[in-house]
Parts: sequence; structure tokens; C-alpha cells
Amino acid sequence: MTHLHASRHFSQSYSEARAKFLVAAEAAGLDVKSHAHPMLGREGESLAMDVLRDGPKDARSLLIVSSACHGVEGYCGSGVQTALLGHEAWRTAAHQAGVAVLYIHALNPYGFSWWRRTTHENVDLNRNFHDFHAPLPHNVAYDELAALIVPPAWPPAGEGEATLQRFAQERGVPAMQAAITGGQYAHPEGLFYGGHSPTWSHVTLRHVLRDHATQCDRLGWIDLHTGLGPSGVGERIFACDDDAAALQRARAWWGSKVTSIYDGSSSSAPLQGLMWSVAYQECAQAEYTGIALEYGTLPIMEMIDALRADQWIENHPDAPEAQRAQIKRQTRDAFYVDTDEWKQQVIEQAFDAAQGAVRGLAAR
Ligand SMILES: [Zn+2]
Repeated sequence: MTHLHASRHFSQSYSEARAKFLVAAEAAGLDVKSHAHPMLGREGESLAMDVLRDGPKDARSLLIVSSACHGVEGYCGSGVQTALLGHEAWRTAAHQAGVAVLYIHALNPYGFSWWRRTTHENVDLNRNFHDFHAPLPHNVAYDELAALIVPPAWPPAGEGEATLQRFAQERGVPAMQAAITGGQYAHPEGLFYGGHSPTWSHVTLRHVLRDHATQCDRLGWIDLHTGLGPSGVGERIFACDDDAAALQRARAWWGSKVTSIYDGSSSSAPLQGLMWSVAYQECAQAEYTGIALEYGTLPIMEMIDALRADQWIENHPDAPEAQRAQIKRQTRDAFYVDTDEWKQQVIEQAFDAAQGAVRGLAAR
């Protein structure tokens, strides 16, 4: 499949991205169900999780393609969804394989619009899928570093930075990454906070899955992310329970380079409360196989520094406007490389992954 002018599917704001998605849906003759978010966006626009199904209600095989689990990362995922939806040959191939495709546009529309990775609850949606009646995980290393990760002043004091660097030197960068990004439940004004209850996006996603994913026998899921790994490279991160048969399926569909957080092959640290765990709960009747398709943007410490600054700004609404504008721009840039070349790479790898999923899900 050729993908000329991939960049035309991408946008500069949530409202532009949403409009492109809705236009593509209309052109394809498909109905969109919009789940309205309770808050407004950065331009005063309304926000929604928009859901569209391409294929029959009773399809035995269902592929979910979802964007903006992490808000601002949706610039990438939305572009992919709009490109897929507008591609006649891809849609025909899925139909002929008996695979219905469920597009979930903007799982976290608030973060998408406001250039935040988190939901309006300041929660990392991909750390929010816990049984909140059970004890939550305790991230001791985050506790140790919390006051340095999001310090009282920005730019941060040299002393605190030196302590963070010492931590990285003594325990290694992977340990540092795990401490900061692994998820924490004790610092609601910190980073990678998983929350103490299901967020709006969490609850809404469960409704969407109940509407669409409780009849299929086979369920595939490609959840689009950005921020980890080399720029423009789409890492296929295994997104299932630690199960050998599921990993084998994932590698059959998406290639031997599918990485895993369970064996240290992924650029992601081991994480808790992951969103895909909902597939086992809401779609227990189906054989589930999923990946996070994670596109690189910046070196990891630059990405983390952008998030630290962004959280600091969030915690300091009185910060000077010029500083706020600079930090917000930096946040978007950390999760969206606004170049034709990057977008082309994104689209090519996404089509490849989507085609692999359809082949894997095709009726056997
Ligand atoms: Zn992400």
C-alpha cells in the first residue's frame, strides 16, 4: 500500500484532529457514537471519545485501533486512524477477512486538547486499571524521589538534579525509569499517578467495550502511543498477560520483534494498572491479542524532563505566561514530531501492524 502525503492526516489541535476523523467517517459512510466528556478543551471546544465501528455487529473477529490513551500522544494516533479510515484498500481487506474494526478516537480527549499526557484527574490512564477495592501497588523508589521529580521550583535546583543523577548512576537508568514511569498511587500532583478510582476515560472505555466487544471470538487491539524509543521507530510492545500462547500469537501477527515488559526486551519499564487488562474483564469470551504501538520521539530523559516541567506548570497556575507557553509547547513536541518524515514513518508502520492484525484475526 502506498501512503502519499501521510502528513495530511495529522493535525495541530484536538479540534482539527477530531474534525478530520469525523470527515473521514462521513466519507466512509460510517456512524460515529460520541461519548461527551464533562469538560471543555483548550479552545473552548467540546470534548468526546468518538467511537466508530467498520464492520458487522456480529463479526467473529474484532480489531480495536485506539488513540490518545495518553492525551497529547493522540496527535500520532489520530493521524493513523484517519489514514486507515480513508484507505479504501485497507477497509476492503478487513471486510474480506471478516474482521470488524473498532476505532476509538481520543480515549483521553482532555489530555489531547490540553497537551497533557494525563486525564483531567491528573491520572495516567494506562496506570488506572486496578481493582480499587484491593490494596494499590506501592512505588517506594518514587516516594524517595517524589519531591525531586516535580520540585517546588522550575527550572529545578542543581542540588536536586545532582541527587537524581546520582540515583541513575548508582542504580542504573532502567531503575530510574521504572521508579518514575512505573506508576505510583501516593502523589496525586506527581507524574505517572494511577489515581484512586476509575477515571472518566476508564469508565467510558468499559461502556464502549460492552457495546462492541462482547460478541466476538477473537479480539485484537492496537493502542497507539508515543514517547519511547528512537524517533519514528514504532516499537510493538506486547500488551497481554504474561502468557506464552498470547506472545506467540502476537509475534505471528506482528513479527518476531514484538517486545515484552516481562522479559526486559521493551523500552518500557514494567508497569501496573495497564489499560489492556480491561479486555480480559469485559471481553472474557474472546481470545485477546494486543500491542501498544509505541513511536519514539525524543531521548527518554528529555521526554521525562518535559513531563516534569508540565506537571510543575499544572501545580503552579500562577507561573508566568511566557514560561507556561514554552513548557506547553515542549510537552507537545515531546510526544509529537511535527515533520513530514516522522508522520510518513508512523503511517507506514501502522498500516503494516494493522494488516498483520487482520491476517491474524481472519477467520480460520
Ligand atoms: Zn503512551
